[in-house]
Amino acid sequence: MSDALKAKVAELFNEPGCDKNAAKGEKERKKGCSKPLTPGAAAGGCAFDGAKIALQPITDVVHLVHGPLACEGNGWDNRHAASSGPRLYRLGVTTDLSQMDIVMGTGEKRLYKAIKEVIARYAPPAVFVYSTCVPALIGDDIGAVCAYASDKLGTPCIPVDAPGFVGSKNLGNKLAGEALLDHVIGTMEPEVSTPFDINILGEYNLSGELWQVRPLFEALGIRVHACVTGDARYREVASAHRAKVNMMVCSTALINVARKMEERWGIPYFEGSFYGISDTSTALRSVAKLLVSRGAPEDLIARTEALIAAEEARAWARIEPYRQRLAGKRVLLYTGGVKSWSIVSALQEMGMVVVGTSVRKSTDNDKQKIKDIMGGDAHMVESIPPREMYAQLRRGDADILLSGGRTQFVALKARVPWLDINQERHEAYAGYDGMVTLVQELDRSLSNPVWAEVRRLAPWEEGETEDWLDDNVPRLTPLAREG
Ligand code: SF4
Repeated sequence: MSDALKAKVAELFNEPGCDKNAAKGEKERKKGCSKPLTPGAAAGGCAFDGAKIALQPITDVVHLVHGPLACEGNGWDNRHAASSGPRLYRLGVTTDLSQMDIVMGTGEKRLYKAIKEVIARYAPPAVFVYSTCVPALIGDDIGAVCAYASDKLGTPCIPVDAPGFVGSKNLGNKLAGEALLDHVIGTMEPEVSTPFDINILGEYNLSGELWQVRPLFEALGIRVHACVTGDARYREVASAHRAKVNMMVCSTALINVARKMEERWGIPYFEGSFYGISDTSTALRSVAKLLVSRGAPEDLIARTEALIAAEEARAWARIEPYRQRLAGKRVLLYTGGVKSWSIVSALQEMGMVVVGTSVRKSTDNDKQKIKDIMGGDAHMVESIPPREMYAQLRRGDADILLSGGRTQFVALKARVPWLDINQERHEAYAGYDGMVTLVQELDRSLSNPVWAEVRRLAPWEEGETEDWLDDNVPRLTPLAREG
């Protein structure tokens, strides 16, 4: 690892805006918070993957991966970040380093050639160049190549120094944020600037979620100047320093960007969520309040309240037919981070019972929010081994599992409905409209007739039990007997 990268990583572990860091002593903070990665758990993502996830939604630039082909292949577009215009971001571009480049030390030359070629072919406003493990280990200096190429070719080339081995996906998100702070944000001026300009940080427009909330802001005359980085354009991100307020959606990912933008350009930030009706309303209120404190006309507050009242009424009217069907249904929520509390709150609004929620990637702040929402009933777990989760589901502890794709097979094997709630999902659940979609999807999964069919016992299974389950749970759940 280069000295510059080492210093950057140490600085990120020292991030004062991170509440985990704030709770640590000086000595502990120096050690950082990187957990050793699980061998073989490639789908968990490396730092490069995290950096690519955070920046790929800048849709009009070329994302050039300097490394062997597989690094780009592993992570390419696995999140469905949507674009309303340019498609360049979906182009997989890599230097495809070979053994010969490593032996002969021609990696940097190859990188420069690739930059030159993509600029000549696509004329992008910028090229983002990602380091990966191999070039970092052999000492390729992507910073120097990018500086030379920017100078020589007249197009900004942004080095993203986050090779996989430095740590987790989350650290990669933050290193991507550092690349934006060092080389992009503040380098251009917006064409127009208004007292109603905001940035949204940590929203990647997965499956089009930004498009569910942007119209709400537009209805209030608030302009989402830059979404860092959902459905983003280079120019918007480069001039994001002129916005009046930053809203941070995924707390752990880009906290460094929010804090440093406040430090450098005096832009206040707050953390909010667009999952659930009340959280969406709270986010709108917070934006309006902060904009007014920064010079926007005061009537914005009243207009925001009027919009909230109308949108909430519209959403509840659409949800009403489902409420009775969903009320009392038990949910096991297996996700992490900001989603853990925002989805808990959304489910509780529906009258559903959250029997357990994982807090794997949650900050202390996230955990406190879950406690505030669920009170004494907060069943928080770090992680549930698949065997235990299977036992819980077979016992009938939950009516549905909400998780990411990796745990879906536990639910399906236990013959329990499952709904994808992670980044890879194909449905958008943000804002008031997203909540209606979530409710519809929950109802669709729970009432799917396939569950009654697959739970029916075969004649030769009557009376059997699964002895290996620790507490000797009966093979059939109560729900299954009804089916
Ligand atoms: S950057 Fe390193 S850890 Fe990440 S995919 Fe490439 S080789 Fe694997």
